[in-house]
Amino acid sequence: MKAIRVCEFGEPSVLKMENVPDPVPGPGQVLIAVKAAGVNPVDTYIRAGTYAKRPALPYTPGSDAGGVVEAVGAGVTHVRPGDRVYVSGTLTGAYAEKALSEAARVHPLPDRIGFPQAAGIYVPYATAYQSLVHLARARSGDTLLVHGASGGVGGASVQIGRAVGLTVIGTAGTERGRQLVREQGAHHVLDHHAADFAAQVGNVTNGRGPDIILEMLANVNLAKDLQIVAHRGRIVVIGNRGAIEINPRDGMAKDATIQGMLLFNATDDELRRIHAALYAGFENGSLLPVVGSEFRLEDAPKAHEAVMAPGAFGKIVLIP
Ligand code: NAP
Repeated sequence: MKAIRVCEFGEPSVLKMENVPDPVPGPGQVLIAVKAAGVNPVDTYIRAGTYAKRPALPYTPGSDAGGVVEAVGAGVTHVRPGDRVYVSGTLTGAYAEKALSEAARVHPLPDRIGFPQAAGIYVPYATAYQSLVHLARARSGDTLLVHGASGGVGGASVQIGRAVGLTVIGTAGTERGRQLVREQGAHHVLDHHAADFAAQVGNVTNGRGPDIILEMLANVNLAKDLQIVAHRGRIVVIGNRGAIEINPRDGMAKDATIQGMLLFNATDDELRRIHAALYAGFENGSLLPVVGSEFRLEDAPKAHEAVMAPGAFGKIVLIP
């Protein structure tokens, strides 16, 4: 089969298409014919060698995919060959024609979700749900600011926020992105680069501020978030690309909480609940991943450049 291989950490050009042997499912494993693979920012940090966890070289990137079950190993009963599925992690990498996953990481795909959309499920939606529901403990009636709503995690956060009855404010850096955020159901849409951003958040929350902020770029926004969050508000740091100076007094004055999160820290029980909630949302139509662009598998280097460029617009996926 064809797969993207990384033999050295570095620039996007280290992503090379190669022929490798087809994986064979062992006990408790599932082989998937990948129809689309999701590209996440973390894939680029790992490829560059700057991420805390470094895979052994060579490796095939990617944790998210939609596809069809090709074969199952001994003891796998919840899916069968021919089933449409999405995966939440792989053993052999998703940027490939086939991927091997542990059975617990293979999930039935509701009919209304296509394969490119399925590749945009795991990291974006599980991160959004874990942050909003399990960590920030969102309750209907809360006001949510999705700070960076035009990309994968942000779009999922807007949709989940709407589905659980929140008032949602979403931000994007371009007009095209803001239009997308509006279409996802955000009640208020703002430009995160606006000079008077804090005042605009005040206007749309009647001066209270958001109860929850899901933050996609904490090194730019955390100090500002502490100033605009509501009394007893919760800020969940999802994305961060550097250091920032904050004034803890801004948080003290509001009994505010800053909560870090890593999807990899989610427990098995949390993951089980996340996938149950996502399945329900995909099935009833309240959740639908937005695919902004599709690249051919061999164009993985271009996809890695695109995912780090400003002007996010939904998910970027690779089609083998
Ligand atoms: P993405 O699809 O590339 O989207 C990035 C988002 O950040 C876009 O909405 C972008 O908006 C926004 N952004 C850019 N500049 C911003 C600013 N100054 N203020 C607020 N938002 C800004 O990436 P993603 O998949 O949604 O992931 C978002 C971040 O979360 C990434 O840093 C990723 O590594 C991280 N993440 C962390 C976890 C975890 O476990 N902690 C899991 C998944 C993702 P515009 O382009 O419209 O400006």
